[in-house]
Amino acid sequence: MVLFKPIFPSLLIAFMLALLIACLCFPPKSCLAAPMSPEPGRTMREVRRADASGDQMAAPDNSRYHRPSGKGARPVPRLKFRVAIDIGHSRTTPGALSARNRPEYEFNRKMALTLLRELSRTARIEAFIVNPEGEDITLHQRSGLANSAHPDLFISIHHDSVKPDYLGEWTHRGVAAQLCDKFWGFSIFISQRNAGKKASRSFAQRLGAEMLKAGFIPSTAHLDMAEVEGHQPVDAHSGLYRYDGLIVLKDSHSPAVLIECGTIKNRAEEKFLRNPAYRRRMARAIRSAVEHFAVGYSRN
Ligand SMILES: [Zn+2]
Repeated sequence: MVLFKPIFPSLLIAFMLALLIACLCFPPKSCLAAPMSPEPGRTMREVRRADASGDQMAAPDNSRYHRPSGKGARPVPRLKFRVAIDIGHSRTTPGALSARNRPEYEFNRKMALTLLRELSRTARIEAFIVNPEGEDITLHQRSGLANSAHPDLFISIHHDSVKPDYLGEWTHRGVAAQLCDKFWGFSIFISQRNAGKKASRSFAQRLGAEMLKAGFIPSTAHLDMAEVEGHQPVDAHSGLYRYDGLIVLKDSHSPAVLIECGTIKNRAEEKFLRNPAYRRRMARAIRSAVEHFAVGYSRN
């Protein structure tokens, strides 16, 4: 017992040192693997950083494939259906003015963010905003940005005006403004020059049906615009039109639609479109169409 006491601490220290060296030289596999990420192509650290900076709107990655971390792990086709949400126009070129002189971009942005939140509720769908800062980029750049993230579906969000012939004058809060209370409602556009034109049409029809089911009314303002090249009714009862020359639709590598969510020149509809509950109801209708479309969609 007298001899054992001084030897025991030395043995313990030697054992600890040996264990430390073994760990440094041959780490267990669990130490090498990255923590499980809730988003394809992103590590937990990237997800946490994005969440902290409020950057949930950016595209999750630029690949059709999920590349798991870990030595020897092979890329696998991503599992989630990816939706690009395009906020029509930009901060400096904001599109039409509402009956109360509010810029269309403001309506588009709020609706796009509401849709982003709604789509994020569905586990197998991931969505991103194409130009989240509203920078003044060209339409071709807008399409390029979306295509670089390889979405499965492209949805451009807009709000409608009417032809100049239908506009009237009034004064809102002492400022002159233009209005048109004659037309009300949504319209959906597709392009026959889109690479996935059949799928675009299929989604657009579903979208029109879901909008009707949710109680929204298609606008008739575009019915007399067939003289514009490629701008023709496909199914006016569900608000669906062809507009082949729309750049963001024809340049999109994925199926694509543009939705005019409502007519902001209509004074009553403008008020509805500014109501968050109304926007959520519309976003749920769009989400429902996306969910149905995603089930039958196979990626090329
Ligand atoms: Zn617009």
